[in-house]
Amino acid sequence: MKIAIDGPGGAGKSSVAKALAAKLGLVYVDTGALYRSVGLFMRRAGVDTASAAEVSPLLRDVALELRWTEEGQRVILCGEDVSEAIRTPEASMDASAVSAIPEVREFLLGLQRDMADKGNVIMDGRDIGTVIMPDADLKIFLTASPEARAERRFAELRAKGQDCTFEEVLEDIIKRDAQDTGRDIAPAVAADDAVVFDNSGMGLAETVDKIGELVKVATCGEYHE
Ligand code: C5P
Repeated sequence: MKIAIDGPGGAGKSSVAKALAAKLGLVYVDTGALYRSVGLFMRRAGVDTASAAEVSPLLRDVALELRWTEEGQRVILCGEDVSEAIRTPEASMDASAVSAIPEVREFLLGLQRDMADKGNVIMDGRDIGTVIMPDADLKIFLTASPEARAERRFAELRAKGQDCTFEEVLEDIIKRDAQDTGRDIAPAVAADDAVVFDNSGMGLAETVDKIGELVKVATCGEYHE
């Protein structure tokens, strides 16, 4: 089984995908972590993360590996586990910047396609239904209003002790949406055959239940509670 979950930041893709992966015995692949790691590498290298001319030549030094542990997916960048370091607002913006560079997308394509080819996966990202797994059994485009998404992100960041205001988080969300949907290559848009699901004002449990229903329909009884 292959399930694609795309949509903007803060829509709850990773929480939904993790819950469904556990229910359905699928491997959850968070592709945003790959772009975040490339962004982190470039930030540490001191280059302009939006510049293809500066970023592309350094890609050959980026060694990325995904591992699965009891804590879920871990991302290893040049031997270092950066799974936590990539979860900052700065890393989100750097990921969005590098992700618009065609060489970066090409660089990460093989790794993602290999995982898609193994099957039994639920992958989340921006172009999973359109580029990485166009043959997915179910494609969901999970979205919510910018305000609803900013509220969730704000709560997450505050829980982690990060110092930020709601206005800053909302501003980042709006900016990242514009960058991700407006770029020339693999823009974050719903595939023609995706189910668009807006979960503004809906909690995680309800979202998981409703998407679980869609999985049931798509897989004709392969889904068990
Ligand atoms: O999903 P997440 O918020 O971790 O993604 C970080 C950034 O990586 C996104 O804003 C987007 O620019 C980029 N991305 C992408 N394609 C994917 C996954 C993430 O362009 N499949």
